[in-house]
Amino acid sequence: MAMHVAAVLDRPETWRSRRIKVEYGKFTARVELDRDNWMESGQHEDRKLSDDFRQAADRCMHAGIDRLWLDGETRSFSWGSGDHYVTLFVPVRHADEAVRALRTAETRGDMRLLDRLADKLAPPYDQWLTPGERKLQLGVDFRCPPARLVKLLRAEASRRKMRANARQVEDGVWVRPEPTATAKLLRQAFPDQYIDDPLPVPVQSSKIFRPPIDRRERSRSRTAVPVRPLSFDMAAPPACPCGYTRSHIGFSHDQWHAHWSIGVALPESLSPRTGIVVVTPQASSAWCRVAWESSQVARRQGHYDAGTWPTDRGTDVVNDEDPCAYLALAEGRAVGYLAVSHADRHGWLEWDTDGRVELIDHTIRPRVNIIHVVQVWRRRGLARRLVESMAADSGVALGDVSWSTPFSSTGGPLARSLSANGVWVS
Ligand SMILES: [Zn+2]
Repeated sequence: MAMHVAAVLDRPETWRSRRIKVEYGKFTARVELDRDNWMESGQHEDRKLSDDFRQAADRCMHAGIDRLWLDGETRSFSWGSGDHYVTLFVPVRHADEAVRALRTAETRGDMRLLDRLADKLAPPYDQWLTPGERKLQLGVDFRCPPARLVKLLRAEASRRKMRANARQVEDGVWVRPEPTATAKLLRQAFPDQYIDDPLPVPVQSSKIFRPPIDRRERSRSRTAVPVRPLSFDMAAPPACPCGYTRSHIGFSHDQWHAHWSIGVALPESLSPRTGIVVVTPQASSAWCRVAWESSQVARRQGHYDAGTWPTDRGTDVVNDEDPCAYLALAEGRAVGYLAVSHADRHGWLEWDTDGRVELIDHTIRPRVNIIHVVQVWRRRGLARRLVESMAADSGVALGDVSWSTPFSSTGGPLARSLSANGVWVS
């Protein structure tokens, strides 16, 4: 394929000059700013590509590629990264515009032409992926095979935390975009975080008729071997190890089971997302909600009567009785929960005695009220790390921590492994 030099940016022209080159294909023009020799011949630091330029160029390149795919281009695209080349792919009719855009961006630091070109090329995903039902017409809205548009829509929808619900028909693609189930749950669970981001109202039209699935797509079901039902009473299924019962008000079994087995998902706005954080009831409502949901699982698991976390929204009122929570975070979920409050009546419990102690020590100590690690994170030393971090954070030795009794079946062995002779209890 022929490569044309469309512009030389440095005069007099030498081998060091920056150039904009265009390679024309049948549909696609590859337009490239070549800074390679120019970079090599000067101070590298001075000649770096600005972040503005890189961002604007990336956006324009991706818009161009999406546009070309929709127009029916079948080739693949490759480009270099770094400061030496800036590459755009555009329909041939936009090649001159792309040259001008790269030139003004490079010589004047002006990104407006790049932005304008990107706007022009970008498929109207905002419109196509608004909730509601619509048909995108082959030959009008796009020219590629409908199956490809379905793929592109699914990919773009998932970037937007949406489900496209796209289906191809002979002359187009039906879409019925809606938020993903997870996105819906998050919106329900943390409505205050979405105040500024309301869901667009679905476009309703009685004239829109989505055709039923084509018979050919369904035909296999006529030859399929029917499944055989066995008698099984789902009204009395075996109890789930997560301990879910109908009395877990406000949680479905799925939600509850996820909290118990893999942890409470952090809303995207929260950071950090890994490590251990200390949450007080004065923290943001989102953090308080995570602590509260974690505490609910912890208390049910330990069969405690009362929750250990006072609020699911947070409060400005400081109450000395309130615990703070040490949350262990991993992969965007709260996977360990340790509730700690301060107590000033303790007794020393020697292991292997009858467990009766007199509460005669009046030192103020941090007390482990409840500790819980989600199922997939158990037996990995996480509970121990939580208690160690809490002790260090409270400025006391591990042996000076106090424990709320009676011990749970996991709390006892944990305390014993941390303090071999005995522990303070309260
Ligand atoms: Zn369960």
